[in-house]
Amino acid sequence: MFIDIHSHVDICKDIDVLIKNAKKENVKILTAGTSPKSNRKILELKEKYPEINICLGIYPIDALKLSEKEINSEIEFIKKNKSNILGIGEVGLDLKHAKEETLEIQKENLTKFVNLARELNVPVVIHSRKAEKECIELLEKLNYNKIIMHCFSGNMKLVDKIIKNNWSLSIPANVKHSEHFQKIVKETPIKQLFCETDSPFLHPDKKFPNEPSNVIESYKKISEIKKISLAEVERIIEGNYNELFS
Ligand SMILES: [Zn+2]
Repeated sequence: MFIDIHSHVDICKDIDVLIKNAKKENVKILTAGTSPKSNRKILELKEKYPEINICLGIYPIDALKLSEKEINSEIEFIKKNKSNILGIGEVGLDLKHAKEETLEIQKENLTKFVNLARELNVPVVIHSRKAEKECIELLEKLNYNKIIMHCFSGNMKLVDKIIKNNWSLSIPANVKHSEHFQKIVKETPIKQLFCETDSPFLHPDKKFPNEPSNVIESYKKISEIKKISLAEVERIIEGNYNELFS
């Protein structure tokens, strides 16, 4: 089975078709929440399509729009739904779309979500745009190891830190044309790799929208770079998944 470890099905169109295509290609879908509204929509999707697997969380930029009280109450909401979820995400730090002054409050928010993951003993899917170093430092301090760095744009020195910390990296399907992600695949032991689409974004051929069945492109590129058969890459990453999400 192929696994799309990170997508946003709640904001995709033609969800029936997308799920049918994923089934046809033997792709398991994980989708992540980004706000209280998105979390509820994802829980509704899970009811309609039980084959979808879900993570709940608040995207760092969305978290900045909420009061401390609202974030705490969303954390309680996630705890109440723990039997429905596989992980916490999408959470993290973002200094591309928010100012440096927000960093401290972003760190406080991320700390809460990592502690939530620890309490529920589930993996956490991390976004770290333009704050990769800060993010890694905070995660090291928090000392929680079920970490998946999604679509990591930081430099190779930081990639090495992630590898040494024994966290995972998830490779988006646009690795097909991205030298940066190809380099990450080369450097990272396959035991620490996952694949994702971030649908509807990051289409492997720069189109829009992307969909989970395209996750195969990440698998193909890993197979090519690591010189391991596609079936073997599929088997190893399924093993990674069973290990981290058990
Ligand atoms: Zn995402």
